Amino acid sequence: MKIMTPGPTQVRENVRMVRSLETTNPDLDLAFYDYYKETCEQISRLMHTKNPSYILGGEGILGLEAACASLTEPGDRVLVLDNGVFGKGFADFVRLYGGDPYLFSSDYHEELDADAIALFLEQEHGFKYATLVHCDTPSGMLNDILRICPLLKQYGILTVVDSVAGAFGNEVKVDESQIDILCLGSQKALSAPAGLTMLTVSPDAIRSMEARKTPIASFYANILSFNTYYEDKWFPYTMPISDIYGLKAALDNAEQDTDILGRHQRLAEMTRNFVKDLGLELYNHSGYSNTVTAFKVPEGMKASAILERMRMVHGIMIAGSFDVLAGELVRIGHMGENANEADVQETLLALKEVIETLSENQASRLHFPDK
Ligand SMILES: *Cc1c(COP(=O)(O)O)cnc(C)c1O
Repeated sequence: MKIMTPGPTQVRENVRMVRSLETTNPDLDLAFYDYYKETCEQISRLMHTKNPSYILGGEGILGLEAACASLTEPGDRVLVLDNGVFGKGFADFVRLYGGDPYLFSSDYHEELDADAIALFLEQEHGFKYATLVHCDTPSGMLNDILRICPLLKQYGILTVVDSVAGAFGNEVKVDESQIDILCLGSQKALSAPAGLTMLTVSPDAIRSMEARKTPIASFYANILSFNTYYEDKWFPYTMPISDIYGLKAALDNAEQDTDILGRHQRLAEMTRNFVKDLGLELYNHSGYSNTVTAFKVPEGMKASAILERMRMVHGIMIAGSFDVLAGELVRIGHMGENANEADVQETLLALKEVIETLSENQASRLHFPDK
């Protein structure tokens, strides 16, 4: 089965192989602390930041929760920028840790409107931090973090950016964007297996955590507990060393790939054009991510029928969507290892066959309603 979903993505052989290497005790072997630190420095380099990075043992969701757990104190006002499923979802994490989320919700078909946010910030004050999603994967929505995050910082609002499905396919410049906590995952455009989350954390974010009046209400999701791992030679829990070997190999692959963003952009554009030429309707009206394309399920067709025929006839797995978009959209993940011309072309030709066949079936049902 060819995996063309918006994460987890295909994993290259060199990443799979290093996960079977002999391991040491990552708590006690001092060499591992250097290995971990170098891997973190590589993440910071690739995300264009002087801020330190941390690798946490847990899926992408852990990073989002850790950011909210570590920043939120009971009663804190948090601005949740919502133009997609993950965008809105941040409000749940804020509430779980006693915060008071203010949802700035806008049309899910459109990217966040920086001018509207600027107007809003003139009127509403007192937010400790804001959350936003770089690429909201269920709709393939890309938000302009380079424009919006500095705006929030102007008002003294810390920023938490979920780029789990954005980074390594769309440009992320943490320092230029003044992002306080950037959340990444292993299994999207980086194309390592699922299981790790990575964060870059600014000095402002650390200061805010250190200035808390109440303790962070989590052990596993406490970012501060990673702050001095290198000096103390102590991790809050045992690091998943084989996962980190795989992550390092995937980071090397990304770093050595000189055309990584250009290729993602070309293949995304090719996908959107092909989909439109098939007569399908893109879900987004603006904010197209280079990593995933979502189109509407045509009238009278079922998302499940499209996905099933893609799998059964063509051996290709693509994805539906979920939450409020469940059943409405079909998504192709052209990110990471999936983002190669041969696989994207094969997927699009298969999609053409599937849509044409299902349309014919539909037309014949209309002519012979009893059959
Ligand atoms: C995949 C993803 C996550 C992490 O979700 P997991 O279920 O842990 O993989 C977070 N945010 C976005 C936007 C994602 O696409």
